[in-house]
Amino acid sequence: PYGAPAPQGYGGAAPAGGPVVGCQVCGAAPAAQVTVRGHQGMVVIMRFLRRQGTLCRTCALATFRDMQAATLVQGWWGPLSVVITPITLLINLGALSTIRRLPEPVAPGPRPPLNPGKPVFKRPEGILALVPLGLFALAVLAVPVLLVIGLLAGPSDGGGDSDNATTPLTAGSCARNDADWPDQKLRPVDCGSPDAGLRVLAPQNGTCAPGDYIAYPEYSADGATSLCLRPVKNQ
Ligand SMILES: [Zn+2]
Repeated sequence: PYGAPAPQGYGGAAPAGGPVVGCQVCGAAPAAQVTVRGHQGMVVIMRFLRRQGTLCRTCALATFRDMQAATLVQGWWGPLSVVITPITLLINLGALSTIRRLPEPVAPGPRPPLNPGKPVFKRPEGILALVPLGLFALAVLAVPVLLVIGLLAGPSDGGGDSDNATTPLTAGSCARNDADWPDQKLRPVDCGSPDAGLRVLAPQNGTCAPGDYIAYPEYSADGATSLCLRPVKNQ
């Protein structure tokens, strides 16, 4: 009797018992709130893209594939974009799982849906993107590999390099730091020497006095004690 327009616009007829919101592109139902993101790196500047809407499965899939394919090609071109792009792609995979849970439209809308086209990795963009994706995967894999190599190489080095070898300090002796704090390159020196800037002290109740430096445990005789280093005023 009122003839008022339906508040959901072109969403199709709303049956009694509650409004059914249709796809905002084609009007089909069911539809759900979907957010798909994109990223464009442009060396210095970059763009964050977002498409959000109430979409049916077909239109949502089309939106996902277009944004994902475009991001795969346009996303990588900047120092921050190299990191932002894979994150964007992963967030979109989360959106894709929402889209996949949507049933196929059962009530076609008054307008044609978007064309979902081919899956992302059957598009030229997806094939091209295998190069940056592969490089990124290599970079991610390289970190643990380098760590493992470092761990394996570490012990075999066995103190042959005198520059890295540490001489244990003992409580009551004196030392100097050849590095700049907070880095430590400690070596024992005679307490009478003008170089003796630090007095080595055993920790009291496990702690050092305020103002003391704390030596790395590797400088103690057992390798596990953090000795205290009290700065000495040279006269
Ligand atoms: Zn639709």
